[in-house]
Amino acid sequence: MDSFSEMRTVLVVEDNEMNREILCDLLMDEFEVLQAENGLVGLQRLEEANGKVSAVLLDVYMPVCDGFEFLERRQKDGRFDSVPVIMMTASDSVDDEIHCLEMGATDFVTKPYNIEVVKNRIKSVIRLRESAAMLNRLERDSLTGLYSKEFFFHNVELLLQGNGDKHYDIVCSDVDNFRTLNEHYGRDQCDNFLRYLAEKVPGIIPGVVFGGRIGPDVFAFLAEHQEGDWRELLQADLQEGQPIHFNLKYGVIQDIDRDTPVSGSCDHATLALRRIKGRFNVSVAVYDDEMRRIQLQEHQIVEYAEPAIQNGEFQIYYQPKHSLATDTTGGAEALVRWIHPQLGFISPGMFIPLFERNGFITRLDFYIWEEVCRELRRLLDGGFKAVPISVNVSRMDFEVPDLAGHIAALADRYELDHSLLHIELTESIYGDNPGRIAKTLEDLHNNGFIIELDDFGSGYSSLTSLNTLTLDVMKLDMSIIRQATATHDYGILRFATLLADGMRLKTVAEGVETAEQVSALKVLGCDYIQGYYYSKPLPGREFEEYLAAHCA
Ligand code: C2E
Ligand code: CA
Ligand code: CA
Repeated sequence: MDSFSEMRTVLVVEDNEMNREILCDLLMDEFEVLQAENGLVGLQRLEEANGKVSAVLLDVYMPVCDGFEFLERRQKDGRFDSVPVIMMTASDSVDDEIHCLEMGATDFVTKPYNIEVVKNRIKSVIRLRESAAMLNRLERDSLTGLYSKEFFFHNVELLLQGNGDKHYDIVCSDVDNFRTLNEHYGRDQCDNFLRYLAEKVPGIIPGVVFGGRIGPDVFAFLAEHQEGDWRELLQADLQEGQPIHFNLKYGVIQDIDRDTPVSGSCDHATLALRRIKGRFNVSVAVYDDEMRRIQLQEHQIVEYAEPAIQNGEFQIYYQPKHSLATDTTGGAEALVRWIHPQLGFISPGMFIPLFERNGFITRLDFYIWEEVCRELRRLLDGGFKAVPISVNVSRMDFEVPDLAGHIAALADRYELDHSLLHIELTESIYGDNPGRIAKTLEDLHNNGFIIELDDFGSGYSSLTSLNTLTLDVMKLDMSIIRQATATHDYGILRFATLLADGMRLKTVAEGVETAEQVSALKVLGCDYIQGYYYSKPLPGREFEEYLAAHCA
C-alpha cells in the first residue's frame, strides 16, 4: 500500500514500556507517533493533539484505565468518535475482539504482531475514515446541512427505485432578489438567513422527506404526494423573528415522473417558480400543462436562435435620445427585435432573459455590436452627422476575456471614433464578480468608450455600483419618472439628478411619454431624454430619416 503524502499521527496506548518503545520505533519511519501508558493518558493525548491524531493503537489490558474503559469513555465523550481505534489483543481472545468491536473499535491486530500487518491496518483504517469524511463533506452542504445538489438528486432516485408504488412531489424554494439582499445585508447575515430557511422551510412542507440545496438560494424538497392544493398548503409565514426582510417563492411539481431525471423535475419546479418572481401577492406556482407548453416554446426559441442570426431575423431598432441642451438628437439606443418567420414579432423582454440563462446572449450581443458599427459607418459615409449609439451589455458578456479589447478592435475595424459607441450596463450587472466587471469597465472607459448605467432607480441597480464602477452616464429608470409625475412628488427624481451631478455623470431619462414629464426633467437639469414623447425605437431606415429631420 502507498504511503500518505503527508505524515499522519498515530497514538500508541500500551502499558508495557519496552513493547511500546519497540512499536513506536518501528512505526516512526511512516508516522508521527504519540505515546501513552494507559487509557486515561491516552484520552488526554487525544485532547492535546487537537484533532491531529488519525488513528489509535490500543492495548486491551492495562492498569488504571484499560482498553475497554478507554472505548467507553471515548463513546461517552463523543468528540473522538471519528478517530479509528485498532485494538491489540492476545491471539486466543475472540470474546475480547467481539466486545471491542461492539464498543466502537474499528479493527484489531493480534499479538505477537507482524509490523507490516500493523502498518497496513493503520493505513487502511485511516484511508477509510478520510474517504468517508470526504464523502460526508460532499454529501452535505456545509452551510445549511441539507444534501448537496448531486446527493439530493441521487437520493431521490434511490428512493423512487425502492418505493415503486408511492407518489412524490418536489417543492423548490427560492428567495426573490437574493443578490440584492446579499449586497444590502452582507454575506454573514445572509448565510445565517439561509441556515434559518433551511431549518424552517421543511417544517411547513406537508409530507416532507428530505431536502437539498440545489442553488445558492434555491432549496429542493421531496415530499409525499399531496392531494390538496399546494397554493394553500404552503401559506405559513416565516418572516416573524427574521431580521432580513424577504420574499420566498415556491415552485412545485406534482407526482414526479419516474422516467424524468430528478434534475429535470427540479427544473420544472423552478420554471414554475420563475414565472412568479418579483410578484408580491403570489408565492406558490405549480408546474402544469400551460407551463409545459411555454417551456416547449422557449425550447424552440433557444434551439432556433443561431439559424435566426444567420437568416438575419434579428433586427436593430434605434431609439433617439434627445439632448435638452441643444434641442436636437444627441444619440440613440440600439434595441434588438426578432422578426420570427412563424411567431412574428418577438419582444426582447421575451427572449433576452432566455438567452441570458443559456449564454446565447453573448453571441447575440456581439452580433448586435457589429451591426451597430456597420450602421454608424453607413451614416458617416452617407454624410450624416453621426450621433453616438449605445448598445446593451449583459452581465454574461463580462465573462468574455478582454471584452474591452474585442469591442475596441470592432470599432477600429469600422474606423469609428470610440466615443461614438456607448456601453449600457443592464440592470443588476453588479453581483457575481464585481472585481472583474469594474476592471473591464475601466478598460472600456480608458479606451474612450462612454459607460452608461442603465435603469438607475429600478431597485436593481444599487448605490454600491455608483461608488465602485467607472461610469459616465446615469440612465434614470422610467419607473421613477412615472412615479414622480403620477404622485407629483419629485423627491427621488431630484435626489437622483443631484447625485449624478455630484458625481459628474450626465443623465438620460428613459421612458418619457408626456410634455409634463419633459418640462419637469428640464427643471431638474436632466441632459437627455429618451422615450415615446420624442420617438419610439425606429428601424434603421426610419431612424436615418429621423436624424435627417432632427439633427442639423
Ligand atoms: P432597456 O435597455 O431599459 O430599454 C428600454 C426599453 O424601454 C425598451 O424596451 C424600449 O422600447 C422601452 N421604451 C422606450 N421608451 C419608452 C416609453 O416612452 N414608454 C414605454 N412604455 N417604453 C419605452 P425593449 O426594446 O422591449 O427592451 C427591453 C429590454 O431588453 C431593454 O431594456 C434591455 O434591457 C433589453 N435589450 C434590448 N435590446 C438588447 C440587446 O441588444 N442586448 C441586450 N443584452 N439586451 C437588450
Ligand atoms: Ca438599455
Ligand atoms: Ca433601461
